[in-house]
Amino acid sequence: QKLEWAKLVNEKTVTNDQHHVELAANIGTPNDVKGVLENGAEGIGLYRTEFLYMGRSDFPSEEEQYNAYKTVLESMEGKPVVVRTLDIGGDKELSYLSLPHELNPFLGFRAIRLCLEETAIFRTQLRALLRASKFGNLKIMFPMIATLDEFRQAKAILLEEKGKLVNEGIEVLEKIEIGIMVEIPSTAIMANVFAKEVDFFSIGTNDLIQYTMAADRMNEKVSYLYQPYNPAILRLVDMVIKAAHGENKWVGMCGEMAGDEIAIPLLLGLGLDEFSMSATSILPARSQLKQLTKTEAKTLAQKALLMNTAEEVMTLVKEVF
Ligand code: PEP
Ligand code: MG
Repeated sequence: QKLEWAKLVNEKTVTNDQHHVELAANIGTPNDVKGVLENGAEGIGLYRTEFLYMGRSDFPSEEEQYNAYKTVLESMEGKPVVVRTLDIGGDKELSYLSLPHELNPFLGFRAIRLCLEETAIFRTQLRALLRASKFGNLKIMFPMIATLDEFRQAKAILLEEKGKLVNEGIEVLEKIEIGIMVEIPSTAIMANVFAKEVDFFSIGTNDLIQYTMAADRMNEKVSYLYQPYNPAILRLVDMVIKAAHGENKWVGMCGEMAGDEIAIPLLLGLGLDEFSMSATSILPARSQLKQLTKTEAKTLAQKALLMNTAEEVMTLVKEVF
């Protein structure tokens, strides 16, 4: 099987009935890019930049960030690289940034919420990203967007920094796609509204499942509620994909679900354009997708949307494939 997978490294991901989907990788640091290329990813669908900020005693400087982003963009040689802006808070803390103690950190002051208030931190990161943009195919993504206003504010700050750099005579890639993570139910439900203003969506199922099922993703006692195949989750994913396509925008998924072999036929059938996963899952997923047909996957997904439980969906997928 390993040998069969190895043959797929330089191939595109095409289903048995000739539909192309993009298989991308999730990374945490520039060191991860080697594995991404070795496993034949068509791009990076999620660069979790918070790792640049963690395990140290002060914020990374603009220069340090610029170098990290530039390295990743250059190594990917023009393939798309989706960089997510700082997603700190929740379970991820910084020793040098004292935040108020919270009863519900996952529902608290984190990610874009923090960046929109601590704008100096946000602006430094955006400047580093914009300066690095000319070295590749950069797309910028905001995490934990819950309202349209948050997206508009974040985008306005980004465009402001871009304008400043241009005035300073610094070269910035003209066309940078700006997208959001869909990981909060309000945003999934309002996806048709967001789709008019964003360039793309990436569905973050790790958090979307946590918030939809009201089950802490770190708490083993409630881990039985972490149900990617629950029709409630599938319906949200379906809404987001339909909303994106209605405005001719692309939609990816960068939560764990995207690399799950039971979920893959369902996501193909719902029309997902990009699957972003850990590098080691890429070749198995490509091999699986080559054997599937989009037509059959569509029929399967339509049935799954009408099922009653996650169990029923799982049984259905296993029966068909
Ligand atoms: C997600 O929530 O699905 C996601 C990809 O982001 P993270 O796991 O970093 O919260
Ligand atoms: Mg998340």
